[in-house]
Amino acid sequence: MGEPTIFEQIAAGDIPARIVYETDTVLAFLDANPLAPGHTLVVPKEAHERLRDLPDDVATDLWAAVDELTPRVEDAVDADALTVGVNDGEAAGQEVPHVHVHLVPRFDGDGGGPIHAVAGSRPDLSDEELDDIAERIET
Ligand code: AMP
Repeated sequence: MGEPTIFEQIAAGDIPARIVYETDTVLAFLDANPLAPGHTLVVPKEAHERLRDLPDDVATDLWAAVDELTPRVEDAVDADALTVGVNDGEAAGQEVPHVHVHLVPRFDGDGGGPIHAVAGSRPDLSDEELDDIAERIET
């Protein structure tokens, strides 16, 4: 067993956090460095680094919590919308190696961008390449 992640330490009560939701398997708390008022992280209590590592039942509980919390977070800060996202892996910007779903309240004219803004330059893909990628995902 390695060092407990920062989110395991929050789940264990060893690090303080503003907890807004808790079940046997899932915890949600305010992000310590919020991108917007109400920025919330939803995490499985068990540490799994990547979405692909989550056991099915944990993934089910995690997404059920996201589903329950999205309107609560949006309404709590009177936001106009939410950006929901996961930095799934280091190359995607994941800093804490423990799956977490960001719920970021968005406001008309807040100056932020859509999820389309997160990737680098757009690839120019041929029909053959698109067919090949689709087939590899499908199988
Ligand atoms: P990511 O880059 O997706 O791994 O995001 C990690 C997030 O965890 C960042 O938004 C941090 O602000 C947040 N964070 C790190 N430590 C804490 C903490 N102790 N309590 C609440 N949020 C934290």
